[in-house]
Amino acid sequence: MRSGISDEHPPPYGQEEIRRHNLGALLRYVHVHGPTSRADLTTQLSLNRSTIGALAADLVATGLVTETVSSPIRRAGRPSLMVSPCSERIYAHALSIETSRIRAARVGLGGHLLDLREAHRPDWMPVLDAVRQLAGFVRDMAGSVDADTILVGGAVAVDDALRDTAGRPRTEDADEALAAAFAAEFPTGPRFVINDMAHVVGVAEHVRGIAVQVDDLIYLHGDVRVSAGIITAGRLVSGHRGLGGQVGHMVVNPHGRPCHCGSRGCWETEIGERALLLNAGRDPDDRAAVAEVLRAADQGEEQAYAAVQQIAEWLGFGVANLVNLINPDLVVFGGSLREIYAAGAKTARSRLDSMALPASIEHVQLELSSLGPDAVLLGAAELAFGPLFADPLRTGPVPYEAAP
Ligand SMILES: [Zn+2]
Repeated sequence: MRSGISDEHPPPYGQEEIRRHNLGALLRYVHVHGPTSRADLTTQLSLNRSTIGALAADLVATGLVTETVSSPIRRAGRPSLMVSPCSERIYAHALSIETSRIRAARVGLGGHLLDLREAHRPDWMPVLDAVRQLAGFVRDMAGSVDADTILVGGAVAVDDALRDTAGRPRTEDADEALAAAFAAEFPTGPRFVINDMAHVVGVAEHVRGIAVQVDDLIYLHGDVRVSAGIITAGRLVSGHRGLGGQVGHMVVNPHGRPCHCGSRGCWETEIGERALLLNAGRDPDDRAAVAEVLRAADQGEEQAYAAVQQIAEWLGFGVANLVNLINPDLVVFGGSLREIYAAGAKTARSRLDSMALPASIEHVQLELSSLGPDAVLLGAAELAFGPLFADPLRTGPVPYEAAP
């Protein structure tokens, strides 16, 4: 499959490079913001009218956007053409392998969920079996699209707890094994990019959720595991081979509980679901009891309330360290950590305020994730669309290997 990102040495920053950059910027703008007039694009992208006109015409010719005449409501004069993404025609595959389900979606340019397949994933199901089932969903969805639709790529979000097929802590090779399994299913493409769920949801919140227009943020995802999607200066901090953001394994309590990673007193052992359940005197493996503990705390059960407050203290403690390190404008809580933070927000904020540098916390907002369960698919689609925005005119159809 052809990729928009080249490993070759970049050419000099000439006219063609500038044009490509501007085409990507225009396409991405309407992808994120929806139909936009040429006049507004001129303002938003700081380009002159004739340049916007020429770029839009190129994108129309490629079938990536359409232009329609908007009605001149605001003032007399020539109406500005509206530029809209071709959401039904241009799409990406967004897949997820989650703790208890797998999902496969077609997401159109503009972030529209066009088609969705979902199945329960039993605990015992190996990740590679999930790949086979997802590949079936992808072929099935591809069979129902019109002949002139264009698939631009695919991405898979994988829950951190499932990276390793044997259920052990994730390894550097786990992503590569998954990518290879998808490549074996689709030898001629599309290529599926693998990424961590917290990274993917962080991207989704940045592009379409609570963190729109915030370029420095930390999305903190908690369930059994705790990890983060960290975005600085508008870019995801993925680290060497994509393993960045493992904030659940920051050691916060050297005398704390042993962690599955082999260390002791990791943040995850203080704020993960198991910690909440243990502190509340519940079965630490009964994930369904998390909501019950939060309800009990709200209704005044002493042990449940104390458990939530203890988690909130540790939450504020860890966030203070992250805020000092990253200096974000926004910290977003998602997964079950969303409800846990909501239950202990005052305590967490108070701990944060007492620990972090005053200059770092005065502007920091703490918020709940806003996108709901589709965030994973929308974020995965963003990663899949990346090469398209890097070089829009090189977009071409990705052939599917005939299903065996
Ligand atoms: Zn650990």
